[in-house]
Amino acid sequence: MTRNAAATDRAELAALDAKDPLGHARERFRLPPGVIYLDGNSLGPLPVATAGLVADAVERQWGEGLIRSWNDAGWIDLPQRIGAGIAPLLGTTPDCVIACDSVSVNLFKLAGAALAAQPGRRVIIAEADDFPTDSYILSGLARIAGAELRLVARDAITAALGPDVALLVLAHAHYATGAVHDMAATNAAAHGAGVLTLWDLSHSTGALALALDADGADYAVGCGYKYLNGGPGAPAFAWIARRHHDRLQAPLQGWMGHAKPFDFTQDYAPATGVARLAIGTPPILAMTALAAGVATFDGIDLGLAEAKSAALVHRFAILASGVAARFPALTVDPAASGRHGAQLVLRHPQGRRVMAALIARGIIGDFRPSDRLRFGFPALYTRFTDLWDAAEALTQVLAGDEWQDARFDALGVVS
Ligand SMILES: *Cc1c(COP(=O)(O)O)cnc(C)c1O
Repeated sequence: MTRNAAATDRAELAALDAKDPLGHARERFRLPPGVIYLDGNSLGPLPVATAGLVADAVERQWGEGLIRSWNDAGWIDLPQRIGAGIAPLLGTTPDCVIACDSVSVNLFKLAGAALAAQPGRRVIIAEADDFPTDSYILSGLARIAGAELRLVARDAITAALGPDVALLVLAHAHYATGAVHDMAATNAAAHGAGVLTLWDLSHSTGALALALDADGADYAVGCGYKYLNGGPGAPAFAWIARRHHDRLQAPLQGWMGHAKPFDFTQDYAPATGVARLAIGTPPILAMTALAAGVATFDGIDLGLAEAKSAALVHRFAILASGVAARFPALTVDPAASGRHGAQLVLRHPQGRRVMAALIARGIIGDFRPSDRLRFGFPALYTRFTDLWDAAEALTQVLAGDEWQDARFDALGVVS
């Protein structure tokens, strides 16, 4: 049988692995044997260094150092130190990023700050069908701020930027389709209409080469547990363009964002720059794991990473199209022309069961209703041969009847 052979073969993919300039980075992860992990866009895998660093934070820093470790182990600076480590991935300077809270909470803080900075403008524009937490957070903020959230289709965004609009909130890479906005052009269009921009970089950070400063963005947030490999529920990060640092008024003011938290004064005075986005005491054990995750990018050229992921997406689309030719219920989402996130979506009416059957075979992707099988291709550890093995397993699953097993209905959607 010659399935997939027209497009490519396993030996050709093995040759790509052999000359992959990022191939060495796979050693930075502890990937379980017998598993092909294609879900690092949802939860990055465990870095080799994490367990030891977290154990040290628990046993030595906490166990022996006790409260002294806020200073002696540098706990108090961890949000800024991790932010500085993330900065090169964003194309910005170390003083513009802080690790804190969740993406959802950081969206609230920065969207609220944007409304405060735009008196007289009360509308927030966001993209319809974006990741749901963004519109949930923005509609809740709008309710208490006397503002209005308008969700508009992707091709209507620029036209929606009027004189009443304070802020445009967009996911740079779309969580489901992988479509990527042109950040520089969007910022320019927004600024031309007097609108500020807030970018959700959850599916971009660590996957695409970013240039926040050069592209003229105003604010950004991003996720610590996806491509940054910071561990389940890792803290997120927030970024503010330096031109906004001194005026930024966040709607959540906590003591950790105070200019002098340990003076314990009753009046709030914000710390300088992004430090004012800190709210409460940072979760040091989770921050320690996040630092180890960010360090998996040490010395990595994001341009190379983006190019490798694009090649993986392209190759997998070819292989999956070969499978779809044999099983027409399967379709391959066309990769958007131009830039694309490091993932690909296939569709099947029984997608939930098909993905569960793949996972039972050790091929781990995820499922998004109603019919999306989502596969992620982070550059640091995905191999070209993984694509072949995943496509082979998919063929076997669709050719057999295991996916019709009713127990596969139980697949969670959270993974
Ligand atoms: C994953 C993701 C989030 C996650 O938000 P949390 O508050 O950290 O759970 C937010 N936005 C987008 C676009 C995401 O992909």
